[in-house]
Amino acid sequence: MPATLSEEQRHLIAFVARTNGTMLLEAMIDDHAMQALLARAGGATAPTAPDGAPDWMTSYWTVADKFVSPGRDKMRVKVTAAQVRKLGRSLPAGLHAEIRQCLDAHGAERERTREWCYCPYAHTAPNAHSGPCARHHPSADEDAEHRHRAAELRTWSQTLLRQALYPAAGVQLDLFATLR
Ligand SMILES: [Zn+2]
Repeated sequence: MPATLSEEQRHLIAFVARTNGTMLLEAMIDDHAMQALLARAGGATAPTAPDGAPDWMTSYWTVADKFVSPGRDKMRVKVTAAQVRKLGRSLPAGLHAEIRQCLDAHGAERERTREWCYCPYAHTAPNAHSGPCARHHPSADEDAEHRHRAAELRTWSQTLLRQALYPAAGVQLDLFATLR
């Protein structure tokens, strides 16, 4: 693992990944995705710090081209976009390729369901001047399958993030906690 990132920095990246996991995964290997992630700005607060992280790591903030924790005014650890990209470039080729596959799978599922519509006008028109909605309204089975796939894809993203952040295993990252 690259020696340039401290354990606290890795926990901070994992914290950012709790809310933007797939986006962070893409940002590791792609400059445009990193710019999009930074453009979201803002941050997140959790009731408790991620497992294994310092107790004070209950929030993070995006400031310009870096992530800081716990906040903008009381920064105890920061990680820059350049450091995250450097980590991405240092990943083994096999992991890099699997991240690409995972992102492609996310994209394919997004594309497959992009035109899905959940409005109540699949069979009846909303008013006298129009017909029923012409978009595809998924059946309960189709919708359940989509949710199942989406959950699987999220788990795949988190698994790859864990491998990228802690290739030596041992340290369990807390990527699944619920945010307030
Ligand atoms: Zn519709």
